[in-house]
Amino acid sequence: MTTALPLDRTYAEQLDAADPLARFRDSFARAGGNQIYLDGNSLGPLPLATQARIAEVVSQEWGAGLVSSWDHWVGLPRETGDLVGEHLVGAAPGQTLVSDSTTVNLFKLVNAALDAQPGRRVIITDDDNFPTDRYVLQGIAAQRGCELRMIHTDLDEGVSEDALRSALGPDVALVSLSHVAYRSGALADMPRITDLVHDCGALMLWDLCHSIGAVPIELDASGADLAVGCTYKYVNAGPGAPAILYVRTGLQSRLRQPVWGWFGQADQFAMGPAYDPVPGIEHFATGTPQILGTVAVAEGTKLLGEAGMARLRAKSVTLTGYLIYLADQWLAPHGFSLASPRADARRGGHVTLSHPDAWRISQALIAAGVTGDYRTPDRLRLGPAAVITRFTDIWDAMDRLRTIMADGTYSSLAPPLSRVT
Ligand SMILES: *Cc1c(COP(=O)(O)O)cnc(C)c1O
Repeated sequence: MTTALPLDRTYAEQLDAADPLARFRDSFARAGGNQIYLDGNSLGPLPLATQARIAEVVSQEWGAGLVSSWDHWVGLPRETGDLVGEHLVGAAPGQTLVSDSTTVNLFKLVNAALDAQPGRRVIITDDDNFPTDRYVLQGIAAQRGCELRMIHTDLDEGVSEDALRSALGPDVALVSLSHVAYRSGALADMPRITDLVHDCGALMLWDLCHSIGAVPIELDASGADLAVGCTYKYVNAGPGAPAILYVRTGLQSRLRQPVWGWFGQADQFAMGPAYDPVPGIEHFATGTPQILGTVAVAEGTKLLGEAGMARLRAKSVTLTGYLIYLADQWLAPHGFSLASPRADARRGGHVTLSHPDAWRISQALIAAGVTGDYRTPDRLRLGPAAVITRFTDIWDAMDRLRTIMADGTYSSLAPPLSRVT
């Protein structure tokens, strides 16, 4: 956004009045008072429909139906996966499954992919990928005696296609990258990078944790092989809700996942002597699925589907562009700089600002009624989920931040102590 915008609050009020998604704000439980929540990329808010649906599942399906409810519960991970495929990740039915956590799904898919690429012993990821991704890949490389090749990523600009190109070669089995970088919000070019990886015969796995529900995703159209993603961020499915995994149809019969659980077994209730995996995406299931969490994934997905990912993305780009504009005008003079890509097309749903005293400022901001979060080394991360955030929320949050900076009392706050930042 390069054109000058009005800096008064009336402009934000006008944008809110013209917002076609404004009514979705009332579909969520909200914090009291004038609390502003800009942490939808860490834990999304509670949809009222989810609250009601879970209460119903608990009292009717579990409380009254008891074990007979498994008749329809058993299909939920796959049905909900198809719903996610349709509304959020651009996947035709039969390729997306709700299952386990992102960490566990990564472990399953990476091992399966490596087994399917004999003769290739290199995994590529980047040194600013999310910690659990790097750790899982380190563990797998150590267990299997293969090489984990780390490409260097700029903390603010995201994955470099040149660095990836130089690291690729005939020995590479798999490339695993985040679609939106958790720290900076940098958005990777999924189709271009997937093509690059396929050109050298490797498989491509995308981690969608910070993009699912924030940016439109086209897994099928981009030719992606594998994907994982969590549902408690922009999908609003609640703390610890199960994750998703995606395996492209053409690849499914070539992969065998390493956790041989009974929910991936053909004719499960025959309780047969040997593991004989069911064909299709359900092969990637493990044990008994988490039903309440899966129900929450379905409700969260339906709500975003109703709003529409194209409209959500359009609003998100305007929200984050406005936030950056106000930060340039009001906060840059106080020592803030932008730690996210400036171009709209290169940004996901959140914006990161850096300041040497970011930790104390983030604490002062919480005390002033604005929830964002702190990220190392000196970053303030603001994630305005488009489905609930108003333009006046952005104006108010930035106004409170400039007041904190002008006032300066944040500098006497204590240094970091909390385990969760
Ligand atoms: C949030 C996030 C995770 C979380 O993984 P869990 O197994 O749900 O704890 C993983 N990867 C990325 C990129 C994330 O942003």
